[in-house]
Amino acid sequence: MKTCLFCQIAKGKIPKEFVYQDADLIAFEDINPIAPIHVLIIPKKHLEGIQTVQRKDQELLGKMLLVARKVAEKEKLKGYKLFINSGKLGGQALFHLHLHLIGGWKKPNEYNGWVKKRLREGGVV
Ligand code: AMP
Ligand code: ZN
Repeated sequence: MKTCLFCQIAKGKIPKEFVYQDADLIAFEDINPIAPIHVLIIPKKHLEGIQTVQRKDQELLGKMLLVARKVAEKEKLKGYKLFINSGKLGGQALFHLHLHLIGGWKKPNEYNGWVKKRLREGGVV
């Protein structure tokens, strides 16, 4: 999709360092992190979100999770969270499917502070 930011990134039209890439997926750092490590895993092909994926996308969806784990291991994360905001009311701002990987906290529950800060700033999580 011409106007889609993540399609542009996937096509290399917007300079971006990839922390992972293969034939189907890329991963890069979130521009506005809510954790010490915040990476987005996206398919190269344009899919709007979980709300519209189809059965034929099943393998790709599974691969996104395995790639997330691979990135987490590469970043030496001992614990992490994975989430997909789906639809406007689910906090989705960019309508090209992306899996958030967040982690890198030093103590259990430290993520609460980051999330609260983001919400105080009026952002979405
Ligand atoms: P969501 O709210 O789930 O749609 O998440 C969109 C995410 O994309 C947010 O966490 C943004 O910070 C992130 N984002 C927006 N533009 C960029 C960009 N150019 N590079 C990296 N991340 C971005
Ligand atoms: Zn797209």
